[in-house]
Amino acid sequence: MIDLKGRVALITGGSRGIGKSIAIKFASLGADIAIADIATNHTSIEESALEVKKEIESMGVKCFIVECDVSNFEDSQNMVKEVINQYGKLDILVNNAGITRDTLLMKMKEEDFDKVIAVNLKGVFNCTKAVTRPMMKQKYGKIINMASVVGIMGNAGQANYCASKAGVIGFTKSTARELASRNITINAIAPGFIESDMTKVLKDEVRASYESGIPMKKMGQTEDIANVAAFLASDMSSYVTGQTINVDGGMVMQ
Ligand code: NAP
Repeated sequence: MIDLKGRVALITGGSRGIGKSIAIKFASLGADIAIADIATNHTSIEESALEVKKEIESMGVKCFIVECDVSNFEDSQNMVKEVINQYGKLDILVNNAGITRDTLLMKMKEEDFDKVIAVNLKGVFNCTKAVTRPMMKQKYGKIINMASVVGIMGNAGQANYCASKAGVIGFTKSTARELASRNITINAIAPGFIESDMTKVLKDEVRASYESGIPMKKMGQTEDIANVAAFLASDMSSYVTGQTINVDGGMVMQ
């Protein structure tokens, strides 16, 4: 049985989609939660973050919302400090925040490339760097990075996104090697095509063609990712580090 009682978990991009499901799943397993979002003062974002907070608190655990742009180094340092001030420690970090700026390379602007790398890859560096010292001090930590199957297989129209997610996989392996002896495990999840705001924008024909290429012939749900994240966040996975687990209905088989 997975048990996260007494643990504190920070989930970036935790007010929507996959991050929201992870936050709710961890809360249901007993963890106190911090959810980070880029701008909680924006009305709609604030509303979604507050809704998640309400749902989490109804489970009898604590929830704290912290504003952070993960692509900003200082913001990320401050976010981790705020969480530790609030709860006294931080056990689990889920680097989930991510964006897309899809277009073919011929049309891709330099800023489309830079922005995706800044949030999806540099953001993982910023937040991981911020938690490393406190996790080393407490000799315990679980870090879960959200990669993607397209970081393994590539995808036309997503050179920036695929490069960022391939980078996340390399970063996961390197940092896992550096911190394994400190009782800190670092793993990645590579979701396939999951129902969320990120994939809602796909045209019907694109969606149908993706689905036909999935051995299970359907998109995944955010809960499918949250279940694997819960395993990686718990002591059930204490001898697992540096791995990338594909949760993709069989799209990539290694
Ligand atoms: P989503 O619904 O678009 O949610 C993305 C979350 O990231 C939002 O909460 C967003 O905050 C937050 N975010 C974006 N930029 C940020 C920044 N600079 N700083 C802090 N937070 C930021 O996406 P999703 O589908 O749940 O995806 C979650 C993760 O899974 C991403 O890393 C994505 O690349 C990965 N993934 C998704 C799929 C899929 O099929 N959905 C597949 C493979 C991998 P706001 O609410 O403030 O915008």
